Amino acid sequence: MTDHSAFVAALRRLDAAAKLVDIPEETYVRLRHPKAVLTVSVPLRRDDGSLEMFTAHRVHHNDLRGPGKGGLRYHPDVTLDECKALAFWMTCKCAVMDLPYGGAKGGIAVDPKSLSQLELERLSRGLIRRIAEFIGPQLDIPAPDVYTNERIMGWMMDEYAHVVRRHEPAVITGKPLGLGGSQGRSDATARGGYVCIAKLAEERGWKPAETTVAIQGFGNAGQGIARLLAEDGYRIVAVSDSSGAIVSRDGFDVPSLIRAKNDTRKLEAVYCQGSVCDQVDAERISNGELLELDVDILIPAALEDVITADNAAEVQARVVLELANGPVTSDADDILDQRGITVIPDILANAGGVTVSYYEWVQNRSGDYWSAEDVRQRLEKRMAYQFDQVMRLAADNQVSLRVAAYALALQRLGEAAEAVGTRDLFNGKD
Ligand code: GLU
Repeated sequence: MTDHSAFVAALRRLDAAAKLVDIPEETYVRLRHPKAVLTVSVPLRRDDGSLEMFTAHRVHHNDLRGPGKGGLRYHPDVTLDECKALAFWMTCKCAVMDLPYGGAKGGIAVDPKSLSQLELERLSRGLIRRIAEFIGPQLDIPAPDVYTNERIMGWMMDEYAHVVRRHEPAVITGKPLGLGGSQGRSDATARGGYVCIAKLAEERGWKPAETTVAIQGFGNAGQGIARLLAEDGYRIVAVSDSSGAIVSRDGFDVPSLIRAKNDTRKLEAVYCQGSVCDQVDAERISNGELLELDVDILIPAALEDVITADNAAEVQARVVLELANGPVTSDADDILDQRGITVIPDILANAGGVTVSYYEWVQNRSGDYWSAEDVRQRLEKRMAYQFDQVMRLAADNQVSLRVAAYALALQRLGEAAEAVGTRDLFNGKD
C-alpha cells in the first residue's frame, strides 16, 4: 500500500482522536485491517448485443458493533482503496450515531450516464448475483450512494429475492416506498445536515436571511439541503454540478433551480441529464471558484478530496458542512482549523442518510411501518443528541469537531472491543 492510499489517509484521522480516549490498543489494530474485501467482474450485455465487463468491489470494514452498512456507488473512479476508506468512514459514522452497525461500502467502476436504463438495470442485477453471498440483512446491508438511487435499490432487492428464493426487504435500504422503503429516506442525508446547521445557527445567533450558503454538488443531498435551508430563509447564493457552477449574490429561488435541473430534460432515464448551468440564467463560475466564495456556509455535497492542502488557504467560508464523504483531506484539516473555520465532519454531517436507513431496516424486520412525521422526529432527535455530544467533547478538550466526532466513535468502538475481550482479560488483568 502506498502513501497515496485513501484508506491510509483516512486512518490518519484516528491519531488526534486517540489522545482523547482510553480504549484498548486492540481497537486500533482491528480498525486498521478491513474485515473482508470482495472484488468481482460483472458482465453486462449492452443494448447492441456486445458484452462488457465491469469491476466492482464490496468492503466489510468492521463488524464489532453490528452488520456492515454502507452504500454502493457507480462512478468511473471507484477503486478498492477508495471503498476501503469509505467503509472505514461508515464504521465511524455508525458509531457516532450509535447505530447497531459496522461499516461497509462498495461500488462499480462505471460511468452510469453512458448506460441506457435497461443496461443499468441489467448491471445492477448482475452485481447482486455476484455479491449475493457477501450481503444479507444480518451481514451487510447496502444502500444508495453516488449515482445510485432508490430505483436501483429496488432492482437490487428484487434480484436478491430471486437469488435467495425468499422476500428479504431488509437486505438493502433506500428502496422505493412501494418496495418497503421508509418515509423520509430520500431527503434524510440533507435533513441530518440541516439539523447540524440549525443547531449551530442557534448557538451562534445566525439570522437565516443574512446567512449565505454555497453548495457544491446538486444531486440528492445537495438539492435536499438547498430546499430545507431556503425554506428557512437562508440565501443559497451558489450551486454546482459536475458541469460547472452558478452564482447569484441575491440568492436563488431554490424550487425553480431544482425544477430546472430535474424537469427540463428527459427524466425517463434514472438520472437527471440537465446541468444547472445550462438551465439557469446566472453568472457562471468553476467548481473550484465556488469553493473559494466568501460565504457563511460552504456545503461540499459531491465527492471526496475537493478541499485539499492546495486550496484550503483560499476557502473563505465560516463553516464547512461535509455533506459528501471525505470532501476535506486530512492535510487540509489543519489549515482550515488554524484559520478558525468550523468543519462539521462528514461522519456526523451526512449521517442522516444511514440513520433513516437504519429505521428502514428496523421497519422491514418488524413489519411495522412508521409515518413520515415519526421518522422525521426520530431523525431530528438522534441527530441533535449526537451533535450535542460531539460539540461538548470538542469544547471540553479544545479540539475540532472532527477530532471530537472520531473520539466519540472510538469510545463506542473501544467499548465493543473491550466487551469481546482484550489482552488484559486473557492475561487475567481485567
Ligand atoms: N451512502 C450513504 C452514506 O455514505 C448512506 C449509507 C446507508 O444508508 O447505508 O452514508
